[in-house]
Amino acid sequence: MFSKIAAGPPGINRGTAGVGSPGTSQGKQVSIGPREQPMKGAAVPQQVDRHIQAVIFDLDNTLTDFMKAKENSITAAVDAMIDVGLPLSREEATEKIFAIYKDKGIEHQRVFNIFLEQTVGRVDHRMLAAGVVSYRRGREGSLVPYPHAKMVLNRLLKEGYKLAVVSDAPGFEAWLRLTALGLQHTFDLVLTFDETGSHKPDPAGFLMALERLGVEAENAVVIGDWKERDILGGRNAGLHTVYARYGDQYSKYADKIESEPTEPDFVADDLLQLLDVLDHLNGPDHPGKET
Ligand SMILES: [Mg+2]
Repeated sequence: MFSKIAAGPPGINRGTAGVGSPGTSQGKQVSIGPREQPMKGAAVPQQVDRHIQAVIFDLDNTLTDFMKAKENSITAAVDAMIDVGLPLSREEATEKIFAIYKDKGIEHQRVFNIFLEQTVGRVDHRMLAAGVVSYRRGREGSLVPYPHAKMVLNRLLKEGYKLAVVSDAPGFEAWLRLTALGLQHTFDLVLTFDETGSHKPDPAGFLMALERLGVEAENAVVIGDWKERDILGGRNAGLHTVYARYGDQYSKYADKIESEPTEPDFVADDLLQLLDVLDHLNGPDHPGKET
């Protein structure tokens, strides 16, 4: 059950049985050879008479367990480097690598180079190759959507919601992850740092998304795992906010932003609960109802 924080009746519940079968297939299109990309949403009537029209997702640790994939990849890389002579334990090496991520940013691309310079005094190419190859293998195997993510996204698409991703990740990295997750066709709009030029909690990315989707803030919801960024940023943009508590892992790795965490309108401990939030916001007593 999701938790409603701001107002409204608690006790909305949704068993998995009530939301359709997992793995429901999407409409099938068969095409041979190159063809024009269809207009997004062309086959679905988009103007649905309900309060909430759009859902904006954070990507990392909201749709996919990015930190778990990162940890698995690093463990695989460390084991492979130890195998070719790295003189550290798995724990020591892992701790040092995450310290570099904390210092340089979680997307830093030359972490193993820095790590090897620090630990063996030079970039040992044999160790670097072992680390990089195993890192990539580990990542491929462990970057998966959260439970219920594909089910919820399919459901929202069928119901005609406009869907966007607003991510602070660099554009290419975000698209690599979306593609690896099989979500490259799911969203009407994907905005990354490359497009927005700002990080949350700056509302610029959310405001850009609303404008491009043609949706007012009060008719949109954001869901994200980081209170100081996704929730505060969403609040700054005037959106309804859902805290993806199931994915909140960043506090282990990231420097805390020096601000009080913003309390969300709703809390989700499973992505499925987003559907309950939408039902609530679209219900007879929704916040924008004029009576
Ligand atoms: Mg996130």
